[in-house]
Amino acid sequence: MLKVYNTLSRNTEEFVPFKPKQIIGMYVCGPTVYGPGHIGHARTYVAFDIIRKYLEYKGYKVKYVVNITDVHDDMIKEANKQGITIFELAGKNIALFMKDLSALGIKKPDVMPRVTEHIKEIIEMVKQLQKKGFAYETNDGVYYSISKFKEYGKLGNVQVKKSVTGTRVETDKYEKENPMDFALWKKSKPGEPSWKSPWGEGRPGWHIECSAMSSKYLGEQFDIHGGAVDLVFPHHENEIAQSEATYGKHPFVKYWMHAGFLNVNGEKMSKSLGNFIIIPELLAKYNPKVFRYFISSLHYRSRIDFNDKAMSIAEKNLEKWNNLIQELLNAQGSGAKEIDSLIENCRKEFVKHMDEDFTLPNAWASLYDFQSKINSLLSERKISMENSEKILAFLKELDSIFGAFSFEKKEAEALPRELMAMVEKRTEFKKRKDYAQADKIRAELLAKGIELFDTPEGVKWRKIQ
Ligand code: AMP
Ligand code: ZN
Repeated sequence: MLKVYNTLSRNTEEFVPFKPKQIIGMYVCGPTVYGPGHIGHARTYVAFDIIRKYLEYKGYKVKYVVNITDVHDDMIKEANKQGITIFELAGKNIALFMKDLSALGIKKPDVMPRVTEHIKEIIEMVKQLQKKGFAYETNDGVYYSISKFKEYGKLGNVQVKKSVTGTRVETDKYEKENPMDFALWKKSKPGEPSWKSPWGEGRPGWHIECSAMSSKYLGEQFDIHGGAVDLVFPHHENEIAQSEATYGKHPFVKYWMHAGFLNVNGEKMSKSLGNFIIIPELLAKYNPKVFRYFISSLHYRSRIDFNDKAMSIAEKNLEKWNNLIQELLNAQGSGAKEIDSLIENCRKEFVKHMDEDFTLPNAWASLYDFQSKINSLLSERKISMENSEKILAFLKELDSIFGAFSFEKKEAEALPRELMAMVEKRTEFKKRKDYAQADKIRAELLAKGIELFDTPEGVKWRKIQ
């Protein structure tokens, strides 16, 4: 039974979708495309890609929606700076983002709705909120009155001063009622991108887009809503307030899931600190599979520190898996009876840990245990071709979630010349039946991490991990 940590209840709960036999609705807040995607985005979208793929592995059908925020104050600022429209800016960055997602092995979401293509739905929702008394117009926009929504603060666990009624004087009529009320619609200033609305020319506030677009594609209530932890309050709190007030259905979302934040060298990523890494820079330096492996080795809720040391550890650990795969591709041992049960037990352990709120570090621990058992069997030359096919099929099954391993067969690596000379010398000693000298060389090579095997086709070697 799959269990998921729900930010709303602050508990790990059994995962029971709204409609258990139907498609699961999953929505993750997408990027504001004023610039290329950064490695924080990469963390969150790889983490949710793994979650989506695990749900599919479990047999669920998932409809996955990631929105694109293509109108926003930051977009307007950046477009002005570059002397282009927000549409040109969005076009450029969305194309780059799609390329980055694909390079990171992220399966394309089923729908990636853009705000500027959903203005009609957004206006409709704001109208509904105004009609139901949850929204009011001011001189610069339309605001959501948080004091009208009794449960405001339930997701972020925030105590808010809700009632300021009675303090408003007539001259302030067009001002915000409560400092925490948030904009649903912003009236535009000259030169800003704008759309016609019942409140004049303007553009949507940020939070309303996710309420309007999630209901359009997933319904008024759906199963999973994600994002990184920075969005719990106020963004997701506001989404709940908007959607539950509009549709009168509770809960708007069954499971709220939040990925931990990614920092760089211990600090929050920021352009002014000079530690801001965009995805193309990441990919120029590291194989995307190493990044996926790095992300998949950690719990999706844990805070991540991205640094070269952590990446080089990930690189080494992934190399061990890829070396194992190469050996399996060449295995010609005698055959081991226990392979089926090893695979079965490992799969059971893996699923047990993943079912516990996708606890990847524990899932990997059981996989490492499996790796070490297979390595011992390889050392003993016990893995037959048939065994190796089964193990490789199992690793591929896991990799349908991780997307980190490499299965292409590589040309056998040559030994460095001086080591090759030692191997030849040993063969000479063996021919002369000087086994003491031959064993001495064999031990020397072992100390250098090279294990030798005498086979009917001659001497073979493998690198020891
Ligand atoms: P934004 O482009 O800032 O609106 O963010 C888009 C998505 O990426 C949201 O789900 C954020 O929570 C997530 N996100 C932004 N920055 C980071 C970060 N440094 N680490 C992890 N996730 C992030
Ligand atoms: Zn959102």
